[in-house]
Amino acid sequence: MKIRLNRFLSESGVASRRKSEEFIKEGRVTVNNKQVTELATIIDDEIDIVKVDGEKVKPEKKVYFLLNKPKGYITTTSDEQGRKKVTDLIKTKEKIFPVGRLDFDTTGVLILTNDGDFANFLMHPSNKILREYKVLLDKPITEEDKNRLVKGITLDAKKSRFLKLYYPNKDFKESLIVTVSEGRNHFVKRMFSALGYNVKKLERISYANFNVKGIPLGSYRIISKEEIKKVY
Ligand code: URA
Repeated sequence: MKIRLNRFLSESGVASRRKSEEFIKEGRVTVNNKQVTELATIIDDEIDIVKVDGEKVKPEKKVYFLLNKPKGYITTTSDEQGRKKVTDLIKTKEKIFPVGRLDFDTTGVLILTNDGDFANFLMHPSNKILREYKVLLDKPITEEDKNRLVKGITLDAKKSRFLKLYYPNKDFKESLIVTVSEGRNHFVKRMFSALGYNVKKLERISYANFNVKGIPLGSYRIISKEEIKKVY
């Protein structure tokens, strides 16, 4: 991957971004054995050999996992109550974190990575990454309320809407598929709750291009670089 030299150094854990820039300006950094003092130099972290004070810098390995999150796991990386964490489900030496949040009782698609830029890209509201949820309500929802949620209601003092909302089975109107393009906390539950419906079950069935078809609850698979390139 092409990356600016200063960023490469800080992301590889050599030093902070500021310190890495100082190293470059001081002439302590070489790329393919040539001294480089230009901060914005672009390198290819898979090809070029970067050294600081003659010592080779190893790029941090980026890892990506797709977990089918089960109930009863939290998506923060620490918890005072000692509850089980989604990171406990994945075997890796890398320091990974979940991309965004899913509630304790929500199941389904969750991406975990150590790639902060990729995570930020997915979570940034302006990128409008699509998330699809399967929802079970405590009672059937009326056609009118369904339309209100797609047209938009006021939530957190701003207009909020579902992009799409449909019944997968018209004879069972408490079950819905919802598409949203944002990750506000408890967004799906709070939207339904604003109109008097309780979400009894929530499953994220897709996020960006990813779904958990073939991945049992609590299991995961590695996401390939090629899959990442398709969204990012
Ligand atoms: N919206 C919610 O209310 N909960 C989730 O876990 C995800 C989206």
